[in-house]
Amino acid sequence: MARDAILLTPGPLTTTERTKRAMLRDWGSWDSSFIAVTAELRRQLLAIVHGEESHVVVPLQGSGTFAVEAAVATIVPKSGHVLVLDNGAYCKRLGRLATLMGRRTTILGRAEDVPVSADELDAALRADASITHVGFIHCETGTGVLNPMQAVADACARHGKGLIVDAMSSFAALPIDAREVRFDALVAASGKCLEGVPGMGFVFVRNDVIDGAAGNSHSLAMDLHDQHVYMERTGQWRFTPPTHVVAALAEAVRQFVEEGGQPARLARYSANCAALVDGMKALGFVPFLAPEIQAPIIVTFHAPADPAYDFKRFYEAVKARGFILYPGKLTQVETFRVGCIGAIGPAEMKEAVAAVAGAMKELGIGSAAPARG
Ligand SMILES: *Cc1c(COP(=O)(O)O)cnc(C)c1O
Repeated sequence: MARDAILLTPGPLTTTERTKRAMLRDWGSWDSSFIAVTAELRRQLLAIVHGEESHVVVPLQGSGTFAVEAAVATIVPKSGHVLVLDNGAYCKRLGRLATLMGRRTTILGRAEDVPVSADELDAALRADASITHVGFIHCETGTGVLNPMQAVADACARHGKGLIVDAMSSFAALPIDAREVRFDALVAASGKCLEGVPGMGFVFVRNDVIDGAAGNSHSLAMDLHDQHVYMERTGQWRFTPPTHVVAALAEAVRQFVEEGGQPARLARYSANCAALVDGMKALGFVPFLAPEIQAPIIVTFHAPADPAYDFKRFYEAVKARGFILYPGKLTQVETFRVGCIGAIGPAEMKEAVAAVAGAMKELGIGSAAPARG
């Protein structure tokens, strides 16, 4: 059988055969064998951030955004005030969901090609004592920019503010140590750098924070405190669990550990990113971000100015060669994105670059150079 197209996207990702095979079984949600899978998975997840002493991990059904929404609903009281550090599309999503659930929300915006600033955060916290929580995106997947987590967490700690981290696209690839970075909640999901399949998120919550969070959520389904209390008491999920997703993630985490954990994953993704960027540059493509602020997760490239370029046709031509690209998410400049994550290595990235070269030839794109400006 021909291999599936390789997903160069921010999720769903290409997964291993072993992970896919873990889904070939039906589990009863209340059965002791599935309860054991959930318990072991939670233990392994907590170990990845060294949070055994300080945090709990609460899984939640749904895509990553559901878990972000649940974290804000559960951690921020209805009278709270969230400051969102915004340098891209996922930051804006966090701001929007906090606003929609009726939490007072302030956006501290920055350009999309620079990291958010801990100094600006410090000044904002000084200027407005009513802020209770800070919303922060670790790797802003809209561009691929890496934001300064330690400095932001230190500023929040100095001012005694809560911190909610969306580490969806960085967790398990970039180092995150709960003993060094003080956060109230940190959100990630099954279908990103752990290389599971999509369908569940999970939130690390500091022990004192989860204990004080009863009654904060305006929503039954989005209440992580309730999910946590129920799971601690019964070992089961509140409401139907995504059983196959949980089993696949448990198998994916086993492979993550065998590979060498977070450092090994970071090394592989860094090699992927280097192979991609080097190859694309050789074809004349220009990355949107400066290399020192680029996370090895997803790379934004300027679209070629050549009139023969059209994203949809380019996408189809690359897809015909076995690789799935991702559209850009910027409003000001035309771009496209290429993910470096998933169960792939530098060899696949080189094949992807060859596919891009083939697509350019087919479409008559003579130059990959972007518009000047
Ligand atoms: C993938 C991602 C999410 C969640 O997106 P879903 O489409 O809901 O899975 C949230 N934040 C960031 C930074 C992400 O990369």
